[in-house]
Amino acid sequence: MDDHGLEMPVFEPGSVWLVGAGPGDPGLLSLYGLHALRHADCVVYDALVDARILKLARTGASLWFAGKRGGKPSPKQRDITLRLIDLARNGKRVLRLKGGDPFVFGRGGEEALGLAGAGIPFRIVPGITSGIGGLAYAGIPVTHRDTNHAVTFITGHGVTGDVPDGLDWQALANGAPTLVFYMALKHLGRIAELLMAAGRASDTPAALVVRASTKDQQVVETTLARAAADAEASGIEPPALFVVGEVVRLRAGLDWQGQALGRILDPDPLGLGNRQTAETA
Ligand code: SAH
Repeated sequence: MDDHGLEMPVFEPGSVWLVGAGPGDPGLLSLYGLHALRHADCVVYDALVDARILKLARTGASLWFAGKRGGKPSPKQRDITLRLIDLARNGKRVLRLKGGDPFVFGRGGEEALGLAGAGIPFRIVPGITSGIGGLAYAGIPVTHRDTNHAVTFITGHGVTGDVPDGLDWQALANGAPTLVFYMALKHLGRIAELLMAAGRASDTPAALVVRASTKDQQVVETTLARAAADAEASGIEPPALFVVGEVVRLRAGLDWQGQALGRILDPDPLGLGNRQTAETA
């Protein structure tokens, strides 16, 4: 039982918990995630995990950084998995902490399969993915009844470091009204061109959301055609999400962080005659 009074699963020595830390704000960590931090012997974490979350680790836990630092290449995926196996075999409670959700463009599946192959017991603790929770911090919902009934999540970066092969851009551009790209900054111009060539209107609203849910959060509102130039002009750096679609217009009414700083929100950002208010009146 933890101090919140909920029964928590036992973090067994010799096991690995693969936990999503959410997009940044420590308040978005799950109770299981916090429980794991408080009981882990070793925490193996990625670059995207917020420093404030690492501070929640049990005193005496050893922390192992498994991401890129100072332009040095990141440890090979295989080495990380072997490290997890090794620590577990040594009887440690191993917390593998990843940004966002471990199963969303986070290689959590690969690591878990490695653990399965080695016969190591593991638990998956989902996290709030940046492509949903991070956008919510920018006041952008991924679905909204008046704009879209489907959303597509895409990685802008394939194994080779290029725009991923094998994506059907025609289908992507025309499939779902909302498109959310992870790791899109490097190839932003190319991605926007591919979408426009496949028929997506050049004036489609778009936004770049940088370091979502941290104190350094930045949002650049733009259009498909202007995205690359605006990204360059604003000098933004990863991690950033790129969201394309009418949902971006809702930010004018849903920028709750802006509201806290005095922004006056538009209750009818889509110009529909304020149906919400009318319905409840
Ligand atoms: N598993 C993670 C994604 C890992 S891929 C998740 O579920 O969120 C890394 C990419 O995630 C980054 O390049 C960026 O596109 C996105 N990302 C992660 N955290 C972010 C944040 N706080 N703000 C903006 N983008 C973020």
